Amino acid sequence: MDKFDVAVLGAGISGLTAAHFSVNEGFKTALIDPNIPGREGSYNSAGIITRQLYTKREILLAIESISILGEIIPDIDVVTYDRKFITIEDEKTAFQDYRFYRKIFTDVDIYYYGELPGDLSSINLHVNEAILMSYKDLMIDTRETLKKIYEGIAGNKNLKEYRLRAVKISEYEEEEGYTIYLDNGEMIKSKNVILALGAWNKYFVEKSKIYLPISTYACIAVRFEVDGSIPVSGSDEINYLYWMKEGDNRIIAGEYYQSTPITRPEKVKEINLENREKSVIKSLMDRFKNIKDLRFIEYVIGPCSFPIGKRPLYKELMKNLFLIDGLGGYGFTLGPALAKETIDSITTRL
Ligand SMILES: Cc1cc2nc3c(=O)[nH]c(=O)nc-3n(C[C@H](O)[C@H](O)[C@H](O)COP(=O)(O)OP(=O)(O)OC[C@H]3O[C@@H](n4cnc5c(N)ncnc54)[C@H](O)[C@@H]3O)c2cc1C
Repeated sequence: MDKFDVAVLGAGISGLTAAHFSVNEGFKTALIDPNIPGREGSYNSAGIITRQLYTKREILLAIESISILGEIIPDIDVVTYDRKFITIEDEKTAFQDYRFYRKIFTDVDIYYYGELPGDLSSINLHVNEAILMSYKDLMIDTRETLKKIYEGIAGNKNLKEYRLRAVKISEYEEEEGYTIYLDNGEMIKSKNVILALGAWNKYFVEKSKIYLPISTYACIAVRFEVDGSIPVSGSDEINYLYWMKEGDNRIIAGEYYQSTPITRPEKVKEINLENREKSVIKSLMDRFKNIKDLRFIEYVIGPCSFPIGKRPLYKELMKNLFLIDGLGGYGFTLGPALAKETIDSITTRL
């Protein structure tokens, strides 16, 4: 039976980043996923990594994730669409957020109604609304990003890949760690295990009678071709909308609260998507004076796991068994930093 220092279950953004740091620490690492790495949950992310978040902890994680991605992918500019990000909020909230962000990062500006600079003037801002602008965030092509992270570790002498489903995990044994059972009947042993199964974590650990405070939702966005111009990527907290520029005439956009609860991650495939793009188009046309037409390209849909209560859910579930979960719509924003934290804590023990 193969034995490892670290077994990473799940090869989305969290698992791939964890595997990257694990092999680079010199740990004998197993990466287990039935799919091609980076081709399931994370594959359909919009790719917004912004520091305009709700808590100091999340902002620090986002700063760390931006720095990690730059380190892992030396030619990150090739997969980066933009660095600027705006949030539209009511004036009072925007000012409070501005003061909060300024304590943590300084490249943030606030613009009020009637004072919009340059190309932001093409935004329909209403009385009592304001815009927060930050300049060093990351808008990325997630599919290419995942591919690059995977290519950076594929073939590494410390890595063994299993293109298989993990079925269950044993109790911890003092000498050997955990036994992981795979769906072809094979078993492997690992001293440390990282559960980076995204929305699948909850269902995997239930077999071991561990219940995670997680809700599973289908997150949906739409890819459009645009006639006209959108000046910058951003989110509109008034209309519960987010959008990301993909080059000059493409955007990906979605609504915050249109996520649909699902009973299992696979159920995303059964969601009725008919006309889902209509309200996104309406909100975007209302906000941007320069848009003349938005042509539907495709829906992007994937399972998201939202924590009930505090987020994200990162913890040592049992001895040497680590969980990265509850990333909601922020897996690229929080996942890389949490993956590094996990490997750092394993490093202090091995
Ligand atoms: C439409 C949409 C837009 C989004 N936009 C953004 C955004 O702009 N910014 C942002 O930060 N986040 C965004 N997200 C959220 C982000 O995509 C997720 O939070 C993130 O992908 C979660 O990554 P993960 O690595 O934790 O899990 P996943 O990427 O879901 O990876 C889990 C992996 O586990 C594998 N797996 C499942 N079961 C097993 C098993 N039994 N054994 C082994 N492997 C298994 C799966 O094949 C999969 O590869 C968006 C999501 C969607 C759907």
